[in-house]
This record gives sequence, structure tokens and C-alpha cells, in this order.
Amino acid sequence: MLYYSLKKNSPPISFKDAVLLGQAPDGGLYFPENPTEANKQLGGRQGITRQIVELHPHEFATQYMLPYVTPELQPDELHQIIDETLSFPLPLVRVSPQISILELFHGPTMAFKDVGARFMSRCLSRFVGGIGHRVVVLVATSGDTGGAVAHGFSETPGVDVVILYPSGKLSQIQERQITETAANIHPLEVLGNFDDCQRMVKLAFSDSELRKNLFLTSANSINVARWLPQQLYYLSAYRQWNSECQLPPVWCVPSGNFGNMAALLLTVFNGIPARKCLAACNQNDTVPRFLAGKPYEPMQAVATLSNAMDVANPSNFPRIQELFKVTKTELNSLLNAGSIDDKQTKSAIKFVFEQFGYLLDPHTAVGWVYLSDYLREHPNDRGILLATAHPSKFPKVYRLEFGWTPQPIVGLSTESVRTKKSITMPAEYDNLRSWLMQRM
Ligand SMILES: *Cc1c(COP(=O)(O)O)cnc(C)c1O
Repeated sequence: MLYYSLKKNSPPISFKDAVLLGQAPDGGLYFPENPTEANKQLGGRQGITRQIVELHPHEFATQYMLPYVTPELQPDELHQIIDETLSFPLPLVRVSPQISILELFHGPTMAFKDVGARFMSRCLSRFVGGIGHRVVVLVATSGDTGGAVAHGFSETPGVDVVILYPSGKLSQIQERQITETAANIHPLEVLGNFDDCQRMVKLAFSDSELRKNLFLTSANSINVARWLPQQLYYLSAYRQWNSECQLPPVWCVPSGNFGNMAALLLTVFNGIPARKCLAACNQNDTVPRFLAGKPYEPMQAVATLSNAMDVANPSNFPRIQELFKVTKTELNSLLNAGSIDDKQTKSAIKFVFEQFGYLLDPHTAVGWVYLSDYLREHPNDRGILLATAHPSKFPKVYRLEFGWTPQPIVGLSTESVRTKKSITMPAEYDNLRSWLMQRM
């Protein structure tokens, strides 16, 4: 499949080139020419909902993803990448009468970003061989991308990873997953917020002088190899849902940069049933304001308890707009967005723990509030909420707010024997540029 730039000032390119480039030379995001090709190949909505239960999950996933990666990956290669990507469980757990939680935190860094990062690192390591020099993966993180990418690319031959993260904004575990890593991972602690990190990364990508010297790519959800495989867990969730419920679910996604929501909408346009798709945001409410009819106007990002969602200018929203445009669908007919504050987030954590004995992480709790509000008004519907991270990644929140210590998942170690390494840097592009020129 070919990918075009949403800014339409760069030529369409293959999957392989889109993975290697990350972002288009004109600064746009890459978008698949036929985003709903899986629907066509698998026989429409009926074919998809039948085969999703009949085929082995990884076999179905391979057939579903194949159009996106053809012809650069063969079906057996893709199957192997999917086996390696989905090497941990993705259970759908019924928590309340109306809400089931899709637990995406059983991977190595305890957040959903493991899925995209594992898929992308495996694609990239297949593709770098052909280009003859080292690739620098440049990535900005609001919390969990960094760890997932550091883990996914650890010791990948031919690849250096440079991770920009906002100083003082990450939980200790999140920071350690970035800074106590292999020699090919280079953490940069930026004296600013996530939007600053993202801006610096975007400037590097549009710096043609720099790109003459370095082969840069991105491992943010900007990169199609990070973004597209996020569809895999929606397939898995629907398969589990379908075995006990015939109603289309209301999907709720705790959202920051909107990559996860953009992936959900792709699966829905490909035929996975949805009553509604809810984007739950924290106080960073650019999209909720826009969907309520106000101008699209990103403000300064504010810090909240759900730090991985502290994004005021979500990169992936243009992809969502494009998807609705090419499918000729009204945005508001399928997508709702709401903003939840820290006070509501905390009371949801307390309520759900006391009522159902289930501990929500702060991001998932934002989603819980928004989904419960929706279901209260739609008492005959039921919903799937994405648990985007495990609570033990945010011990400080529980210690300070509740005096609790969440237990990590047995078998997942957050301990590390390495020492912290990171370089502090002002939030100015010139600093990043000269560091890259000297060090990479
Ligand atoms: C990244 C992240 C989000 C936001 O996902 P987007 O795809 O950026 O909208 C939500 N929760 C957690 C725990 C995350 O790490």
C-alpha cells in the first residue's frame, strides 16, 4: 500500500519508506491510501466479524494487517512480527455490569505502547539493513512512549534511539524505563513540557540540512509502524466481547496524542462494530472543545495526574479528520470527546476500588468517568474501556492521594541494575540540533 502526506506536498511512498522516514519531508503525517482495504479483502463487515471468531487470532491479525505492509513484508514475516508483538495477554475483564476493561498493561513496560513499539522495532530492524547506515530514531514522550520504545529497540543493531522527555513530569518508573537502558538508547531531559519536546522533534524532522547528515526516523505514533498495529488489540477485544455479547460496544479511549483513538476509528471503519467511540481527555481539552463546536485552538498544556495525556496539540487529530473525510462520515456521528478533571479522576479511582475491588490507573480512571457518564444516559448500552497503563507505574499518585501502594504485576520487574544516564537540555531546538550533530 502507498502512504501519502496529509500536507500533500510530498510524493506518496511505500510502507517501508514511510517507516524509515517517520514523518513526510513536508512536515505532514503519512496516511494509508486505502485505509479500509482490510474490509475489502476480508469480505466486508460480515466477513470480518465472522472470521475474527473463526480464525486463530494471530492468523486473523495477519490477514487484517497485510494490506498495510504489502509488498514489503511477506505474510509469513508479518505473522512472525505479530507473534513477537503480541507475546503477552490482552484480557478483557468485566469490572461492572456495564463496563469491561481491556487490560493493555501486561507487556514489558506496563503500558499499551508496548504493542506499537514492538511492532515498529521489528519492522525497522528488517528495513535498516538495506540502507547501509545507522538510523536515528527520534522520539518525544509524555510518559510511556519512551519506556516502550527504549525496551522495544534495546540493542537493535544499526539503530540509535534519542528520547526527549519533559523534566520533572514523569513518574519515577517511567523515567527509569527511559534512563536505565542499553547503550544505543540516549535519553534527553528537556526543561519544558511534552509539547516542547514534540515541537523540537518536529523541527528536527523538517530540518533538511540536519537530515542530509543523519538518517532520522520517528517512533512516536507519527510513525505508521507504531500507529497501525494499535488496531491489533481492538481486534482482540472485539473477539473476546463477541463471545458473550451481541451488542456493539461503546468504546472509550483515554486520549492524549490521539494515536490510540485514530487506530480505533480505523478498525471501526474496517468493520469492527461500535455504538460510539468516546475520547476521554484530562483538562487538556483541545479536542473536546472542538467537537463542541468551538475553534481548534491548542492552549498551553497543563500538568495533571494522567501525565501521559498532557497534550494540548494532539499530533494524530489530522489523521482522524482525514479518516472521516475519506469515508464521508460526519465526525460527530461516531466520535464524542469529553474533559475530566483531577478531582473526578481521584474519586473514580476510590469509587471503583471500593465498589468493585479494581484499581484503575489515573489514565484509565479518566476514561472510567467519561464512559460511566455516557452509560448513565444510555442504560441499555455496554462499554469497553481501555486500561492504558498499570497503576503500579504511578505509585506517587496513590501514596499521596490515598496512602496506598499498588502492587506491581507478578513477574514484571521494574528494577534495573543500570544507573541513570540522561542529558539535560533547554527546550530550544538549537540545543537538540547541535547535540545531534555532535553525538550521532
Ligand atoms: C500515551 C498514553 C495515553 C494516550 O494515548 P494517545 O494515543 O497519545 O492518545 C493514555 N494513557 C497512557 C497510560 C499512555 O501512556
